Amino acid sequence: MPAKSTPNRPPEHAPEFRRRLLRWFRAHGRDLPWRRTRDPYAILVSEFMLQQTQVSRVESYWPRFLARFPTVDALARARPAAVRESWQGLGYYRRAANLHQLARTVRDRHEGRIPAAPEALRQLPGVGRYTAGAVASFAFERAEPAVDTNVARVLRRAFHPRARGAAGEHRLWNTAAALHVRNGRSAWAFNQAIMELGALVCTARIAKCGACPVRPACKTGRKGLRAGS
Ligand code: SF4
Repeated sequence: MPAKSTPNRPPEHAPEFRRRLLRWFRAHGRDLPWRRTRDPYAILVSEFMLQQTQVSRVESYWPRFLARFPTVDALARARPAAVRESWQGLGYYRRAANLHQLARTVRDRHEGRIPAAPEALRQLPGVGRYTAGAVASFAFERAEPAVDTNVARVLRRAFHPRARGAAGEHRLWNTAAALHVRNGRSAWAFNQAIMELGALVCTARIAKCGACPVRPACKTGRKGLRAGS
């Protein structure tokens, strides 16, 4: 019998966490080129590239790839060798092959338009739960969770320090969904902001709690505060 889904309840301190995070992001978020567009194709390309490649590297490859294949239709028409050549240096060519296949699927089954719903996005080649949420949020400003490694780490430390395994992951996705308030620019900003916090402050190597904007709303950070660290 399938597990009964429970309604998502925002965790304790959710409004404060959100408020502090968004304020920090407005002041400190990096001006990355894919944050200046809502073009779903351009965002999909950035998400495929970012899957296993550093931001600084993607910053130089992304505009070159888009200059050569400016639309989903242009990519669908391209020869596999040309796509592979444009991906040269990024590695993990499976991503390029999936992206190419995705463009053909969008052309053939979606009249050339990338769908907005995460369920439809997940049917496309190479698109998993995270990428579907990211595209729904970053291109269509939908209040959808997008939990990558950085986001999972922040959510775990902030709300569920003991979350582990599949049940833990489920919990993190539920919390990510519950933290969203509404569709629109704030949904876009929330996902960008929590990823940015995981990349710059609450990193895998070190949690810089002393410099963290959400510390008063974070379980792990508050422990440190109580201990006076
Ligand atoms: S207070 Fe510390 S553990 Fe909590 S989100 Fe910030 S850096 Fe991470």
